[in-house]
Amino acid sequence: MHELSIALDLLNIVSDAAAADSRATRVHVRVGVLSGLCPEGLEFAFRVASVGTIAEGAQLKVALVPVRMWCPSCWAAVETLPRVVRCARCRTPGETIVNGREVEIVRIDFDPLTVSDRSGRGTIIAAPHSPCILNGGTCDMSIKVTGM
Ligand SMILES: [Zn+2]
Repeated sequence: MHELSIALDLLNIVSDAAAADSRATRVHVRVGVLSGLCPEGLEFAFRVASVGTIAEGAQLKVALVPVRMWCPSCWAAVETLPRVVRCARCRTPGETIVNGREVEIVRIDFDPLTVSDRSGRGTIIAAPHSPCILNGGTCDMSIKVTGM
């Protein structure tokens, strides 16, 4: 069950990225068509494995990534023909696969989080990681203090 181990890896990343008490609602992933993963199988495995985690009930959104290769004739990364690794433009056989094997999280959507401020100065309403771009490393965290 390749899909199940990938789903568990994804869930680990999601819980690492989550703030305390937040809940993931959607996980967007890019899956290369050469990864050997079945998108439906991955969605199913994610649903089963997420029970009892902060991603329980979250939707896994799979975007398939086509195979791209480096074409030495076109001197560019190009899409390949279906089923064979050949340049879709000039039909040169490819040696280097650029895309198509990856499984990566693009974005995780979290539910806004409400935390009580222990200093007694009101309620902090934080909406962290919404969306959190893992790869870019930018986390759009905003904290509003109300009731002061
Ligand atoms: Zn070419």
